[in-house]
Amino acid sequence: MASNPSLVMRVLSASVAVSNRASNIIRNVLTKGDLGIVEKGKNDLQTEADRSAQRCIVASLHKQFPNVAIFGEEQLDPQEKIPKDFIEQGFDAEVLKHTCPEYLKETKDEDVVIWVDPLDGTAEFTQGYLDHVTVLIGISVKGNAVAGVIHQPWFNFDKPGLPLGRCIWGVIGLGSFGFERETPPANKIIITTSRSHSDRMVTEAVEACNPDEIVRVGGAGHKVLLLIEGKVHAYVFASKGCKKWDTCAPEAILHAVGGTLTDFHGIRMNYSADVQRKNTGGVLATVANHEKFLSCIPEHIRDCMDKSSEAPPLDFKGVVVCGGADLKEAKKDSATVPDKNPTIDNATGSTSSNAETNHKEPSDSVPNEYGNTKL
Ligand code: AMP
Ligand code: MG
Ligand code: MG
Repeated sequence: MASNPSLVMRVLSASVAVSNRASNIIRNVLTKGDLGIVEKGKNDLQTEADRSAQRCIVASLHKQFPNVAIFGEEQLDPQEKIPKDFIEQGFDAEVLKHTCPEYLKETKDEDVVIWVDPLDGTAEFTQGYLDHVTVLIGISVKGNAVAGVIHQPWFNFDKPGLPLGRCIWGVIGLGSFGFERETPPANKIIITTSRSHSDRMVTEAVEACNPDEIVRVGGAGHKVLLLIEGKVHAYVFASKGCKKWDTCAPEAILHAVGGTLTDFHGIRMNYSADVQRKNTGGVLATVANHEKFLSCIPEHIRDCMDKSSEAPPLDFKGVVVCGGADLKEAKKDSATVPDKNPTIDNATGSTSSNAETNHKEPSDSVPNEYGNTKL
């Protein structure tokens, strides 16, 4: 174990441990069979799994770090009695073997905000697309997403004999762990986007990137897993629907391996306690070529998206944002984004291309290897 672990490494280590407990709780809700679905808003569901997982994560972390701000997605009664077996007080030993990056060593309680999405991909959960589900615990320092956990409770559900579930964690400056990094295919462009919160603008933004394939799956966490595993090149979501708890952990884990997550103006999100919860600038995440994907987005779509308030940057000087695989190789091998962007006819709103020969009909099917298998 690293001697005298820093606050950030202790919070991260506790978050890994509690995500394992939350993941069990989520699986148990499904096994019992009563999902207890509540409609929070239009196209916005909550289940007993969301509620119970949040109770477990927030109560456990609050007990261990009483002076750290924690925001969970679900509005729950703070007076509620939490079952004893929902409280996890352990630390993940593997995380504590690592030394905290220098720039985070002096972090104090008041610098930290933890963003909790107890169950990302609720719509898919209720429909039986279980491998889209993740538990997200993001750790921000002075407004910057710096570390996080993405736990996937039903990873390997289709491979009997292999352990069910996995936990991916990362810190900017250390790298991300718990998965195999692959480079995305070099000769085509694959874009992932929402499966259940799509509309005309979401689709138009995706198509403006001239994809060969569109992968529509649930959850911000799951989509960023596809990115870091090299299954897609970009996550494009021209919508104001994603919230800070959806993007904090994925952003940190992606950034830790050299990727980028911003709004549609190229601005990194601010995760301070006082920010608005919605990511009203949209979400664009890439493993490489971020600027090129940004430049594909038509002006009128960018204009519909707000400019996010940027976090005052931490001193990332000297931080190596590479883990799991050689980043230079990853960038070299990644696909080239077309330079000639399709243009938009503002009068009709229809898409026309000034690069006819470049235009491709994307396949909008979702291959099984992306885990769109219903249980
Ligand atoms: P999706 O890619 O549709 O799974 O969305 C990623 C995350 O953002 C999930 O937690 C969704 O619940 C949330 N989200 C996206 N769009 C909306 C929306 N229109 N209303 C409510 N939540 C949304
Ligand atoms: Mg979510
Ligand atoms: Mg959620």
